[in-house]
Amino acid sequence: MEIEIFCLGGYTEIGKNMTAIKVGDEVVILDMGIHLEKIIGYEEEIEKLNTSELMKIGAIPNDKLLDKLKDKVKAIAITHAHLDHSAAVPYMSKRYKNATIMGTPYTIEILNRIAEDKKIKIRNKVKVLNVNSSIKVSDNIKIEFINMTHSTLQTVMIAVHTPKGVVLYANDFKFDNNPTLGKKPNFKRLKELEKENVLALIVDSTNAQIEGKTPSEKVAREMLGDVLFGTENHGKGIVVTTFSSQIARLKSIVEFGKRLDRKVVLLGRSLFRYVTAAEKLKLVKMGVEVIGFKNLMRRKLQIIERNRGKYMIVCTGNQGEPGSTLVRLADDELPFKFKGGDHVVFSCRTIPSPINVRNREELESKLKKKGARLFKRIHQSGHASKEDLRDLIEMTRPLNVIPAHGNKEQKEGLVELCGEMGYDLGKNVHMMANGKKLII
Ligand SMILES: [Zn+2]
Repeated sequence: MEIEIFCLGGYTEIGKNMTAIKVGDEVVILDMGIHLEKIIGYEEEIEKLNTSELMKIGAIPNDKLLDKLKDKVKAIAITHAHLDHSAAVPYMSKRYKNATIMGTPYTIEILNRIAEDKKIKIRNKVKVLNVNSSIKVSDNIKIEFINMTHSTLQTVMIAVHTPKGVVLYANDFKFDNNPTLGKKPNFKRLKELEKENVLALIVDSTNAQIEGKTPSEKVAREMLGDVLFGTENHGKGIVVTTFSSQIARLKSIVEFGKRLDRKVVLLGRSLFRYVTAAEKLKLVKMGVEVIGFKNLMRRKLQIIERNRGKYMIVCTGNQGEPGSTLVRLADDELPFKFKGGDHVVFSCRTIPSPINVRNREELESKLKKKGARLFKRIHQSGHASKEDLRDLIEMTRPLNVIPAHGNKEQKEGLVELCGEMGYDLGKNVHMMANGKKLII
């Protein structure tokens, strides 16, 4: 029985992750994401594009390689709720009528909300699978969800068990021994996999060039506390922005806001989506107002404007995205106006695409003109660094390594690490590109 790996998205860029594994004559798909960068700039026009148009502009993966196999796809398993891993499902799942969509409770909840937002009805069967559990897909395929830490809740590595061994899909993860929300990585299960013969490891290369270990979320929490409690902000406005899906970080921000004796208010549509989903599933209890609708937001901001020292605003716009709450605040489009000495905390990093870099520069210069004090990069990454990746490879001893989730340089970082560990490029480390297939 041959195992084939189809690299459909995320092998040539960071974004639109999608991989298919063919076992005998059956197929499972792992992740189905969008390429956010291709969507920025289209604004509302994007809603009018159909699946093939989205594919043409590169916003969703091109699945041409699966043309003759569409009916053989049994499952679409999603690792986590980030849009670059999940948000193409509403557009593409209808092409695979026999496939059951699988995800953790949080991932499925977010997926449903994305589909609802787009007014698309997903007609495939959906199976909610908890972390650290598995499901038989067919006589030859079992899918296992192994709990991982990352920058959103209920992230998993997916082990695809076949009669020949395991394909381990580790796309996006960090090894965080001190998560501030959720469980630690399931190291025990990773170590056991070695004995089950790991045929291939498909792995997140984002930070492969970065030496050392990615610091824990606990470190980001410390950094936040340092800024919020260690600066003079009495009577000043405090605005914090981070990634909307970063629930652990948001929990820290909310706790610290309360400790500063301020009322914390979360503002923005995507914050509303991710936070209320986590609260609904009882994964977190923020106990603060979360406002997603523009009218309510205006009314609240009028009150905050008059009592700025008593509130903390948490809002969208960490990348300076046009239309986000922070950008609209900076543009004086909302009833809260920045004053000299107000604090703006960026609990994030700028994703280094030219559009983001430009948007952030514009936002920062507007904020500075208004006299705001900026605190930047109060953040730790959600992606494994070189030494974490070494540990993963050491633990699972894969026969083949396939770098994913990265541009050429990032994937080369992983190839170099594999070289140090005795692997050979072209023999058991494989540089893949979108639209390419590997037979093992
Ligand atoms: Zn992710």
